[in-house]
Amino acid sequence: MRIIVILPMAGPEWARKVLMGAAANVLILGGGFAGIESATYLRRQLPDAQLTVVSDRDYFLFKPNSIYIPFGLDPERLKVQLPRALKKKNIRLVSGYAREVDPERKRVRGTNLDLQYDYLVVATGATMRADEVPGMTEHAATIWTTDAMLDLRRQLADSVTRAKGGRTERVLFLVPPNNKCSGPLYEMVFMLDTYLRRERVRSNFDLSWTTYETGYIQAFGPRLHEYTAGEFERRGIKHYNSMVVQSISSDHVRYANGTQLPFDLLISFPPYAAAIAYPGLPADERGFIKANLTTRQVSGLDDVFVAGDAGDFPVKQAFLAFLQADAAGEQIAARILGQEPRLGFDPVSMCVMEQFDRATFAQVPLELTGNADSPVRVRPGSAADYRLGTGKIWRLGKKLLGAYLPWRFRAARPFHAGLPWKAMDLGLRIMSRLLATPDRSQK
Ligand SMILES: Cc1cc2nc3c(=O)[nH]c(=O)nc-3n(C[C@H](O)[C@H](O)[C@H](O)COP(=O)(O)OP(=O)(O)OC[C@H]3O[C@@H](n4cnc5c(N)ncnc54)[C@H](O)[C@@H]3O)c2cc1C
Repeated sequence: MRIIVILPMAGPEWARKVLMGAAANVLILGGGFAGIESATYLRRQLPDAQLTVVSDRDYFLFKPNSIYIPFGLDPERLKVQLPRALKKKNIRLVSGYAREVDPERKRVRGTNLDLQYDYLVVATGATMRADEVPGMTEHAATIWTTDAMLDLRRQLADSVTRAKGGRTERVLFLVPPNNKCSGPLYEMVFMLDTYLRRERVRSNFDLSWTTYETGYIQAFGPRLHEYTAGEFERRGIKHYNSMVVQSISSDHVRYANGTQLPFDLLISFPPYAAAIAYPGLPADERGFIKANLTTRQVSGLDDVFVAGDAGDFPVKQAFLAFLQADAAGEQIAARILGQEPRLGFDPVSMCVMEQFDRATFAQVPLELTGNADSPVRVRPGSAADYRLGTGKIWRLGKKLLGAYLPWRFRAARPFHAGLPWKAMDLGLRIMSRLLATPDRSQK
C-alpha cells in the first residue's frame, strides 16, 4: 500500500526538505570521490531521503596520495572505511558490483544486486587498459592500483641497489594515447629525481620522459607546458612530446615516428576506459557515459546522472569529480524539492603537483573544443583565473588537502561544504592570489 502525502510547496525550508525528501530513493553507484561526494552532498540537502551507495569494496581510497607509496607510504593510510563513515549519516552501503542499468524499470542489477531507484548517480570511475599497448602488461611498471604502486616500489629499490653498485640505470617514463590524467606521472618523474638526489645516486640514473601529448600536461594549456619543459631542463631529464608508443619489448620502447628508446625500468600510466560499460546507458567508444556538461544528466534519461571518471568529460581528475558530484547532487535535490538548482558543473580544474623539493599549483578554467585530438582548452579570456604558482609552500597545500578530505569523508560530510570548506577555500584563494601568477600572455 502506498501512502499519499500532500507535500508543502511553500513554508519553512527544513520542513520541505524533510517531507519531500523523505519520499525519495536515490541510488549511487561507486564509493570513490564522485560517489561519496554525491551521497554526502545529497544527505545535506535531503535529511530524510533514502540514500544508498553501492560499492565493490568497503573502503574509499584517497588515490591522489598513492604517489607516495613507491617511496614508502603504507597504502592502508589512504583508506577510509565506508561502513562506519556512511552509517553516521544514515546512508545505506550495499556491497556489490553493478553491471546493468535498466532505465525503463528504474533498476540496477549486478553481482549480489537488484535495486530500484527514483534517481540514479553513476560514479563507478575508470579502469586501465594496459593491454591496448603491445608489451605494456609484460614489461612496464604502471601507476593506478595500490598493488601496482607497491610493485613499483620494489622495482625502484632494485634499481637504486644496482645504481649504488656502480651501474647506470635507465628509467623511461611513458604516457600513451587515451591516458586521461597524465599529471600523476609527471609528479612521479619529478619526485623520483628529487628522491635520487637525496639518496646521492642521481648521477647513476639516466631519466627520460616521453608522452603522446603535443604539449606537457597538454590539457592544462601552454603555461603548464612551458613550466614543465623548464623543470625537465633544470633537473637534467631528457624529454620528448608527440611520441606515440607503438610497442614495448623487454628493454626498449618503439614509437610511431621510428624512434626506439632503451630502458632498464619503464614506468607508465596506461590508457583509460570506463570501469564498466553499462548496456542501456549512452556512452562513447571507451564506455564513458554521455551527459549534459553542466547538469551531468545522462543524455536522454531524466533521472540518471553521472559524475567523475565514469562520465564523458575528457579530463579525469578528483577535483573535477567533486564538482560534477555536487552538480549532480544539486540537480537531484532541486528536482525533489521543486526548486531551481543553485549550481552546475563549471570545469575549473585545480591541482597541486608534488615534486618532493617543491610543489606546483595550477588553476585552469577549461572548455570543450569538440576536437577529439585535443578535447579541452584553457578558456579564452580567462587570463586572471588561469593561475600558476610553485614553491615549497605549495607542498603544505597538498598536505592540507590530503588531511582535510579523508577527515570529511570519515564524518560522511561533503568536500565542498560547511565552514571547514569555506576556510580551506579562503586559504586556497589567498594563497592563489598571493603566490600564483595569472596568465600575462592573454590580453
Ligand atoms: C596515482 C594517481 C594520482 C592522482 N592524483 C590526482 C590529483 O593529485 N588530483 C586530482 O584531482 N586527481 C588525481 N588523480 C585522479 C583521481 O584519483 C580520479 O580522477 C578520481 O579517483 C576519480 O573519482 P571517481 O569517483 O570518479 O572514481 P574512483 O575514485 O575510481 O571511484 C570509483 C569507485 O567505484 C567502485 N566501482 C567500480 N566499478 C564498480 C561497480 N561496477 N560496482 C560497484 N562499485 C564499483 C570502485 O571500486 C571505486 O571505489 C590521480 C589518480 C591516480 C591514479
